[in-house]
Amino acid sequence: MVVVDNEKRIIVDAGREGDVEEPRDGKVITANGQTILPGLIDAHVHFWGCKVYDLTAWVSTPETLVALRSVADLRKLLMAGFTSVREMGTKGGAFLSRAIKEGCIDGPEVLSCGRSLGKTGGDDDPTNLPLHIAQELSYSYFADGPWECRGAVRKVIRDGADFVKVYAATGTTPETYTSPMYHLRPQFSVEEMKAIVDEAHDSGLKVAIHAIGEQSVTNAIEAGADSIEHGMALTEDAAREMKRKGIFYVPTLGVFLTSPALRSFIDNPNLADDVYVRRHLTSDMELAKQYGLKIVAGTDFGGNDEQPHGQNYIEIVSIAKYLGNKEALVSATSRAAECLGLMDNGQIKKGFKADITVVRGNPLENIEALAPANIALVLKGGRLFTPN
Ligand SMILES: [Zn+2]
Repeated sequence: MVVVDNEKRIIVDAGREGDVEEPRDGKVITANGQTILPGLIDAHVHFWGCKVYDLTAWVSTPETLVALRSVADLRKLLMAGFTSVREMGTKGGAFLSRAIKEGCIDGPEVLSCGRSLGKTGGDDDPTNLPLHIAQELSYSYFADGPWECRGAVRKVIRDGADFVKVYAATGTTPETYTSPMYHLRPQFSVEEMKAIVDEAHDSGLKVAIHAIGEQSVTNAIEAGADSIEHGMALTEDAAREMKRKGIFYVPTLGVFLTSPALRSFIDNPNLADDVYVRRHLTSDMELAKQYGLKIVAGTDFGGNDEQPHGQNYIEIVSIAKYLGNKEALVSATSRAAECLGLMDNGQIKKGFKADITVVRGNPLENIEALAPANIALVLKGGRLFTPN
């Protein structure tokens, strides 16, 4: 049973029925055979507002249409029990975040990077377009050299970013993940990323670095990343260093497991075991577990047909296969809150924000209890939503 202060929108007491005093005012949430959980957190999402997973679509879909589709996606996330998400690069991300805070639309709290940072001619630069148009349309600010990188951090802070997202490596095409021979070029240099981290940390912002391939993972660690996103091709040395520095690991299993193109590679018995996507689902996760890395649930879902918002629990189910149900729940609640810097969130605890998800069944016994059809109610900041 949990008691919520309606005014302050925080948890004032929690415990077994009988141990908790029922207040005269305030909201009481009882389990009734269901399970009361902290609100779920997805630490890696996009709001592309597109039907397809495609760079050209991401940059060219009209922004009004993206915003309207994103409003629907935000509601689906909330009804699926997600009360906070970290938005990893969408042109209007900071505005979605603001609209939620103002209460004009329903959805999880959105922590936004505003725009991501990439190098000119990098993987998220649509090079089929003239540069000035590509920059105008991109969800990233392009920057080259340490001072431009510092300037790009200042721009996202101006836009209202809550943290900084950086592309340390290529990685938006299936070829990236499916060939061991594919040249995974690092994008920003260590020098550039160190400037980004320094500038961001000076303003109290964390830095999430998209890293794929041995070199970019190593570069991201050296530059001082707070979290490594995807983190494909983890080595023993990298895992040891991540553990020593306390860097969060967001393996985004969901995006790989839900892509039909990548699934065909994962399931193809004729393909070498060391293709990156296979290695990610085997040795990367085993190393992360072995070194006790702080694994965080993040889907990399963008709301397209293959990775629809509302199905984000898939990440928690996927992590459970490696770490067990309890740790998987931790990865999507208290540890995710720590990764996002939400210090009063992610736990059912006195004084914490009243972000609560109640599910039918017990996810410790059956992780599928987190599926959207089993969400009985959601409290976000003490406000009640009943999905089913
Ligand atoms: Zn992403």
